[in-house]
Amino acid sequence: MSKNATFEEIGEALRGHDTFVVVSHVRPDGDAIGSILALGDALEGIGKRVRYLNEDGCPESLAFLPGSERVEVSAEAGAVEAEVAICLDTAAHARVGEATLKIVNSAAMIINIDHHISNPGYGKLNLIDDKSPSTGQIIYHLIEALELPLSEVSRDSIYVATSTDTGSFQYPGTTQATYEMAADLVAQGLNVGEINQLTYDNQPYRRVELLRALLNTLELSEDGRVGWWHLTNETKEKFSLIDDDTEGMIDTIRSIQGVVMAVFFEELGGDKIRVSMRSKDRRINCSELCGIFGGGGHALAAGIRMPGPLSEARAKVLAEVRKAIDSSL
Ligand code: AMP
Ligand code: MN
Ligand code: MN
Repeated sequence: MSKNATFEEIGEALRGHDTFVVVSHVRPDGDAIGSILALGDALEGIGKRVRYLNEDGCPESLAFLPGSERVEVSAEAGAVEAEVAICLDTAAHARVGEATLKIVNSAAMIINIDHHISNPGYGKLNLIDDKSPSTGQIIYHLIEALELPLSEVSRDSIYVATSTDTGSFQYPGTTQATYEMAADLVAQGLNVGEINQLTYDNQPYRRVELLRALLNTLELSEDGRVGWWHLTNETKEKFSLIDDDTEGMIDTIRSIQGVVMAVFFEELGGDKIRVSMRSKDRRINCSELCGIFGGGGHALAAGIRMPGPLSEARAKVLAEVRKAIDSSL
């Protein structure tokens, strides 16, 4: 991994340029959208020109975030002139998506700010902290260190970025600094009840139907340590699902007593399979397991995009999961 830049070096690069594009990974989650909004708005607060791009735009589940209407679908963004491209919450260069990658590569400088342990440091400047539970929390510390303005947009975005990446401040990566940050955001006027309701108690009915369909495919290994389910293209069509609908669903498998590894297999178009993986035990590293198949992520949460068909991908991945459990637990 390449050496991290200091906050000051990042600050110099930010202050020394005028036009920016902030981007994040495909199928963006709360941390991806929250981080681009938080940093982008802070940059606008010091007079910079900022475009907000994502390959898939902003999902409807995050449209309540103030400023989210500024997020453009990369392929529809037209000409984007930016001296600096800032990739946020994006473990690998190409995970920004095809159209976004072209725009990112046309900038004179890439700044890579992330918290994935598998991030190779593809930026000219890199700020990678795999101890941070969210990229949003890194942005918070950056804004603080550089004395950038913390607007309501940045405040709410950082909170949602961190809340969604920590399972509502639950996962082991949640630190004292995370709670102190949250307390400070509340001190700065964040409405906890309102923002949590918008984030968690606001799901479309089709998502509950999705949960029912997934539960019907749930399987457990004989020893009860591995749980998995799958989603087919047929089910997606039946309930008119959108990509974002599966976000967080895997938590139901993880929540089962005795389950150490939760795995979610999803059919994508073009015979590709998306795999999501969660571990409840530090001895089983999801990022390494997913790395075997070209994916990556964090120790306790990671993913893969791999060739199908579903049954083959599932057999291969579950075999590696079994090996890891048998050799580590
Ligand atoms: P997900 O299961 O999609 O929620 O992803 C879990 C974590 O792993 C997230 O932080 C993702 O950014 C990361 N991740 C998922 N898929 C990949 C991949 N193919 N390559 C690298 N990181 C991934
Ligand atoms: Mn993310
Ligand atoms: Mn993240």
